[in-house]
Amino acid sequence: MKTRVQAKIVGRVQGVGFRPTVYRYAIECGLTGFVRNDPQGVLLEVEGDDTNVSAFFAHLQNEPPRQAVITGVEIHPVKLCGDQQFAVVESEQAGNAEVHISPDLAACDDCLRELNDPQDRRHNYPFINCTNCGPRFTIIRDLPYDRSNTSMANFKMCPACDYEYHEPTDRRFHAQPDACEKCGPSLQFHALVGATHASPLQTAVDLLRSGHIVAIKSLGGFHLACVPEAAGTLRERKHRLHKPFAVMFRDIETVKRHCEVSEAEEAELLSVARPIVILFRKCSGFEKLSPDSPTLGVFLPYTPIHHLLMQHFKALVMTSGNLAEEPIASDDAELPHVADALLTHNRAIVHKCDDSVVRIVNGQRQFFRRARGFAPNAIRFADDCAQILAVGGEMKNTFCLARDGWAFLSQHIGDLKEFKTVEYFEREIAEWQRLMRVEPVVVAHDLHPAYRSTRWAQEQSATLIAVQHHHAHIASVMAEHNLRGEVIGVALDGTGYGTDGTVWGGEFLVVTRADFVRVAHFKQYRLPGGEKAIEEPWRMAASVLISEELPVGATHASPLREPVLNMIRTGFNSPLTSSAGRLFDAAAAMLGLCDMASYEAQAAIRLEAAADSSVTGHYPFDLRGDVLDFGRAIHSLIAERQNVGVAAARFQNTIVAGIVRVCESVREERGLKRVALSGGVFQNAWILSRATAALRERGFEVFTNTLVPPNDGGLSLGQAAVAAERMKLRCV
Ligand code: ZN
Ligand code: ZN
Ligand code: FE
Repeated sequence: MKTRVQAKIVGRVQGVGFRPTVYRYAIECGLTGFVRNDPQGVLLEVEGDDTNVSAFFAHLQNEPPRQAVITGVEIHPVKLCGDQQFAVVESEQAGNAEVHISPDLAACDDCLRELNDPQDRRHNYPFINCTNCGPRFTIIRDLPYDRSNTSMANFKMCPACDYEYHEPTDRRFHAQPDACEKCGPSLQFHALVGATHASPLQTAVDLLRSGHIVAIKSLGGFHLACVPEAAGTLRERKHRLHKPFAVMFRDIETVKRHCEVSEAEEAELLSVARPIVILFRKCSGFEKLSPDSPTLGVFLPYTPIHHLLMQHFKALVMTSGNLAEEPIASDDAELPHVADALLTHNRAIVHKCDDSVVRIVNGQRQFFRRARGFAPNAIRFADDCAQILAVGGEMKNTFCLARDGWAFLSQHIGDLKEFKTVEYFEREIAEWQRLMRVEPVVVAHDLHPAYRSTRWAQEQSATLIAVQHHHAHIASVMAEHNLRGEVIGVALDGTGYGTDGTVWGGEFLVVTRADFVRVAHFKQYRLPGGEKAIEEPWRMAASVLISEELPVGATHASPLREPVLNMIRTGFNSPLTSSAGRLFDAAAAMLGLCDMASYEAQAAIRLEAAADSSVTGHYPFDLRGDVLDFGRAIHSLIAERQNVGVAAARFQNTIVAGIVRVCESVREERGLKRVALSGGVFQNAWILSRATAALRERGFEVFTNTLVPPNDGGLSLGQAAVAAERMKLRCV
């Protein structure tokens, strides 16, 4: 019997070769009708014999396009039209967007084969792509995802490209960034030194070989690249003393020659998202790139430009083209004066997007930074919700838009202490609201009154919901795992504004999506000089030693030593803090590992690196009422400080034991056995893996962040989840 069926398909269905696949299946099943993109997703109608129509939908369900994520399908019969053929029709512009934008995708194998094929018309063309790969989010100005709404709009396709684009059986059918040498973007080279060849790429290769620094325009911004031997020059010019640099290796075999690579890590390195993966080095040669730890941030080529470049190099240092915490440069004019030359191109970057950084712990992905390849993937966190904007924290800022139970977490924005980052933050919020079709009725923000994000929120004409920092950390885990009811939240980080106005950071909370109670916290110490103490761990060591009535001894020979000691004794400009991060700083400084930090968390990173993993046992500590007191542990650490590897290990084990002790006491009192771990301290793999294992051994269910970072980059998801729940309960 003849039938006609209409289907509305929502999810990540644009820019992933959905319509060509539908077309192919319809033709194979002998159906007529049409398919088109609309702001809701994909709309299609198929007409033909009913068994063929069923076969078509079975096909689509069993073998959807590789990069598609279908979140909903609505099917209903419609009247027969008697179409003669199956057609892909132009997009519909109006309506509300339910379509999810695809992140940028690494060059696919088919394209790489063509790139390397001298017979192919795109041989060595640096912008080759197809419906399975290439730029997406970073070139999209608006929805639906059509060429006219991308930064490819200015490039008029040549007849050959135009043919592919309109040929339903072609891999480039409706590939929006489709282009070739004749009609597409091209590379340009600007040198401040040396001679220029005819080929921009070859000139860049020559300069890199001779130890120069070349800025290379990629998908979401510029990299500053150099050969590993020239990393010292890059450090000097970027004013970056010790902070690790990432390395792009030619291929997975080369990575394996230099680093330990597990199966999960290999899969991550080769994934279409192509993040930087933190690996353990297994031979010497890259110490200067990551001087504080035995790890190395590694990634593989992901654009055709990278693939062409890496034919000439085994490894290239690649770091974001920016200064310190400013946003990554995405335009020639924004580049800081660090590079000797520029390898750039004329395809505009609409959205800046840094490389994502991940580590595999306990076989699971943990984000340090979530951006290219992952943003703007949607995260399901509730059945439904109001339209919400959550503005995140101050450092490592991300923001989050939510509607219909979906959260759209922005790419890494950066440090809002920088004026340029605040501009970028504001611009991206406006862009994302338009793209995601969210008009927020609620703006959620951190409780901290001085965060730039908080102050920005307060200027908006929407209902405001303030969310405590550590509540948001734990809520981000609950949102990811769709947890309901009460959980024990262990939130360990550097700083967060507490409900009592003091600085929190070593917090044990009983948390629901809407609310929390603080059930225990690390003992408080003075933070001499406030934020100065974060940059100068010796101050924290002095503070803890004085508080524990231990001799301050030879702590740091700074001219400020006496004034700082006085501050601690009198409490002047020395707020109290229960910060876990600062306790790590103090321990590292006491062991002589780090008096002054040149980048965030340096002391903790050195402490983790120094700890001898064969050492078992921990130091004594006390849980008195709601105070977790590591005072006795500090005495033991000082007694054992000659043996740094042992002391560092036992100190970290003590923190783990403290976490377990508090969780057991909360379980006894309240019968809770689900624990959520979050906060920047859990980027310490020792703490994360050992705490998880110890808690599981004792019968706890343990949840951690796997979709967003445990650091402040994940806060906005937690804020959105809390705001959604409070709106639902109407308690605002
Ligand atoms: Zn491709
Ligand atoms: Zn062309
Ligand atoms: Fe935090």
